[in-house]
Amino acid sequence: MAMINMTGTVLKNLFSKPVTRKTEKEYPEGTRGHVVNDMDLCVFCGACMMRCPSRAITVDRNEKTWTIHPMSCIQCRACVDNCPKKCLSMEKRFTEPGPDKLTITCHQTEKARLAEEEMKRIAAEKAKAAAEARAKAEAAKQAAAAEGSGT
Ligand code: SF4
Ligand code: SF4
Repeated sequence: MAMINMTGTVLKNLFSKPVTRKTEKEYPEGTRGHVVNDMDLCVFCGACMMRCPSRAITVDRNEKTWTIHPMSCIQCRACVDNCPKKCLSMEKRFTEPGPDKLTITCHQTEKARLAEEEMKRIAAEKAKAAAEARAKAEAAKQAAAAEGSGT
């Protein structure tokens, strides 16, 4: 008897419409999407972390990591609008399946590391040139003073 009941259920399910619907590839109209970071541009300044009202973002300058807790994010866009490097955006696409759902940590990319090193090199060169210019000006001042005193 049970077998007959089960066969009926199987046949019914085979010829009826699915009760679930396929995951939509695009976000429905009116939703804001989720925050993504272009790690080639992020400089770990922490502005997004300071602006986030729900403390969904953590920036570690020493470790060079940017972490978001998607479940805490309320999609307010404050981080996106206040990022000085414009590397944050709201992506209107569902995230790929994976284990990193509660905490997503992004690391500094090689491109960003090289750009940071280049910036430091340029800053050091400028500081050195400024120090040399100051020393030169000071020497010229002292020479002029010595000349003026007639020695
Ligand atoms: S505000 Fe932008 S550049 Fe600064 S840490 Fe956040 S994502 Fe990176
Ligand atoms: S969108 Fe708003 S809540 Fe979400 S991480 Fe950015 S600042 Fe925080």
